[in-house]
Amino acid sequence: MACASFRFYGELNDFLPRKQRGQVVERWFDWRGNIKDMIESLGIPHAEIELIAVNDQSVGFETIVEDRDVVKVYPRFEGVEIDQKVRLRPPLSDPPRFVLDIHLGRLAAYLRMMGFDTIYGDTNNHDQDFADPALARLAHDEDRILLTRDIGLLKRSMVTYGYWVRSMKPRDRLVEIVERFELDTRVSPFVRCIRCNGLLEPVEKEQVLDQLMPDTARYIEVFRQCMECGQVYWRGMHTRRMQEIIDDVLAVVKSQRMSE
Ligand SMILES: [Zn+2]
Repeated sequence: MACASFRFYGELNDFLPRKQRGQVVERWFDWRGNIKDMIESLGIPHAEIELIAVNDQSVGFETIVEDRDVVKVYPRFEGVEIDQKVRLRPPLSDPPRFVLDIHLGRLAAYLRMMGFDTIYGDTNNHDQDFADPALARLAHDEDRILLTRDIGLLKRSMVTYGYWVRSMKPRDRLVEIVERFELDTRVSPFVRCIRCNGLLEPVEKEQVLDQLMPDTARYIEVFRQCMECGQVYWRGMHTRRMQEIIDDVLAVVKSQRMSE
């Protein structure tokens, strides 16, 4: 039997049993496996890994693990002093795009509210459950970051960019994602339909008059409409509430950054 030692850094420890966190984990093996499979067998999905070092050399996912290798595995943004880093995946699109699993509907609405291209559920039939392979394929084909509560989904080889959402409350989840993907400088509110992810365009009042309640028709003059589903939007109570949420989340992210 051969044996390699693994050490995981930062938030990758969230996937390990409590007693293994921050520790060197020894892995015995009698198969010639690539490093990606061996790391995933220890519980860490490849989608969250940014850098792998074997005996202090940066390596790719396909590297074969040898007896007595010392493996260090890093998440995104963990400072590492290593020459000639091997990129595990191409850079993210900017601004990033997302696809979310069915359990993250509120988060999807928040991301759209902030202007981020976010698919959630079936694109033609809103809020329908996607099968796991379809989610993984969509993330792959459209260069989207897959956000999920399902760790197994992040181990699918098709997933290039993925992240396991840790927080349980919708507002905390939004803070977590804004912070993790540095979205705070890329926010552009009220450009995207919260229902379907379509883009909003200005529209003449006469064109949408039949969709308005009498009071709205009387007091509001400026409207936007979703180019996909036709939903009409205007500034009012609802948008003020959303702006409050955005301001609140950005303030929390800023204060967390300053305390780091
Ligand atoms: Zn729409």
